[in-house]
Amino acid sequence: MCGIVGIITNEKRNLLPEIISSLKNLEYRGYDSTGIAILDDGQLKRVRRIGAPSDVFPPKEITEELRVSEEGFLIAIGHNRWATHGKPSKENAHPHFDCGGNIAVVHNGTILNHEDLRKELITLGHTFLSTTDTEVIPHMIEQKIKEGLSIKDAFLDTASSLEGSFGLAIISTDDPNRLLLVKHGSPLLFGVLKNTLIAASSTNAILAYTNTFISLSDGEYADLSVEEGSVSYKIGTILDREEFIKKEATIITDRSLEDMSKGDYESFMKKEIHEQPSVFRTTLLGRFNEETGDAVLGGLIDYEDVLRNAKQILTVACGTAHNASMVGGALIEALAGVPVRNEIASEFRYKKIPLNTADTVLFAISQSGETADTLESVKEAKRKGFKTFGIVNVVGSAIAEEVDAGVYARAGFEIGVASTKAFTAQLAVFYLLAIKLARERGMTAQKGRGLLLELEEIPSLMSTTIENTEDVVRELALRYAKQNIRTINFLGRGIHVPIGIEAALKFKELTYLEAGSYPLGELKHGPIAVIDKDALSVVIMPHDELFALNKNLLEQILSKNGSVIVATDEVGAKNLSEQDVDIIIIPTLKNTLLYPLIEILPLQLFAYYYAIALGNNVDKPRNLAKSVTVE
Ligand code: GLU
Repeated sequence: MCGIVGIITNEKRNLLPEIISSLKNLEYRGYDSTGIAILDDGQLKRVRRIGAPSDVFPPKEITEELRVSEEGFLIAIGHNRWATHGKPSKENAHPHFDCGGNIAVVHNGTILNHEDLRKELITLGHTFLSTTDTEVIPHMIEQKIKEGLSIKDAFLDTASSLEGSFGLAIISTDDPNRLLLVKHGSPLLFGVLKNTLIAASSTNAILAYTNTFISLSDGEYADLSVEEGSVSYKIGTILDREEFIKKEATIITDRSLEDMSKGDYESFMKKEIHEQPSVFRTTLLGRFNEETGDAVLGGLIDYEDVLRNAKQILTVACGTAHNASMVGGALIEALAGVPVRNEIASEFRYKKIPLNTADTVLFAISQSGETADTLESVKEAKRKGFKTFGIVNVVGSAIAEEVDAGVYARAGFEIGVASTKAFTAQLAVFYLLAIKLARERGMTAQKGRGLLLELEEIPSLMSTTIENTEDVVRELALRYAKQNIRTINFLGRGIHVPIGIEAALKFKELTYLEAGSYPLGELKHGPIAVIDKDALSVVIMPHDELFALNKNLLEQILSKNGSVIVATDEVGAKNLSEQDVDIIIIPTLKNTLLYPLIEILPLQLFAYYYAIALGNNVDKPRNLAKSVTVE
């Protein structure tokens, strides 16, 4: 799930500083423990610790602990673990060994049939030292080698008996010039340099060394070796091992190492919140024609007819991307009149939905493009015959490759685990998509042009919003964090409902406190029972046609002594000046459909400062991984 790294080179050196720095560059994706194995002097040497590589793996100390040979070594593998089976502990940290201590395995993903495999291996005499699903793998390989197979065949036979998802890297003293990789469901690739190959589960781990990489597809393995002073690789499939595949290398152009630094900010999350105006501009760039009033989405150009004829849109996504899809759905319905059904990917996969595949198109939304549930939903939808499109941030990621076509979100590197700028970038794509679909269904050029001009204004309105609200929000967050708030709910109506849901998700992710969200009109139908002086309601209600109705509900919360923060525009704020509520003032917009783009910003900041007040790590909230590549 979190991070795999492997290095093989023809230049003997101490590879620990490189492997540790690559592990650090994967750290933001989540970890609970971390480990490294090296093949040095014909021996497998291993170090495993609980914690983040940047805290627990000082290269010098690890070099001493492993008694690295003076002249160095050629092969190493490393792992950041995000436990799925067995709690975080030194014994459960990867790499895992076989009984003989000759084979080292790092694994991302989950093995669903590990219990049966473990039982079988125990009967064959194998001893297990961890409670992970992963440990069956080195023992299975060991068993097959005992039965006479080569390391490569033992590895690939093992891979073909595994159910679930895996990206695997293994090294062995039996064949000390080889690093083997195999992929099924979890991302895996390797960077190509002249004298070194660097395997990793994400390009972020290799970017410091190369921007050229080859990614493996499901069912493929890579055999990386060093022979006669040079490194080489072969790629094949588990099923057809000796038929080698030629794969084109991909060049990373959408990111640089600088994006991985915090700059002047104290955290990545704060930097990313502040980057939203410029990201929004980048996402729009070159994607509309002001004269004709059209959105121009180059990635979808081959599917113009399909989109024009679509009678329904289905979105599949998880977490924040699902919340963006709900805003997108409301927009598409309002502007283009096309019904939208928003499905959570982990549900969609297993649901039987009676939909006509001929006139329903599917959009899959994911920041990383590796979200396992979303990826599997796309595959399932393709099997059923749907046309599939992606709104993905990471270029060349699994979902980007799997869909028929798509639009990149262009948010750049998002390091903070709680997504912020990728959310507003996904919204930017949805606004363009809604305009495109609307123009194809009779929206006038003039109306299209008007909307595009309004979208162009958004970056500066976003900047104003952040500038004007940050201090107020910080003060509110600090104040409420000190009070004994028992329950917090984010409420709104219509297009503001998904923003409330996203605000509650940010709040949960960062503060570890339970937060809820529901449509404001639902208040009387149950939730009002929780309101008392220790309940905080954050109500999103710019001054629109439902303002009076919303104000009435607000009064009901106040009458039950509930605390209230209102996020509203200047007109709304004036109107509420008599009420005993805290107010966050956002700019007034003519087009109320655009409010989600600015009202989410102070709510992201609210979660951020509340978490800071509680002393939480805002960039790496506990228990979370940046890209969820397991089901
Ligand atoms: N399922 C494995 C474990 O719990 C691997 C988790 C990961 O991807 O980090 O150890």
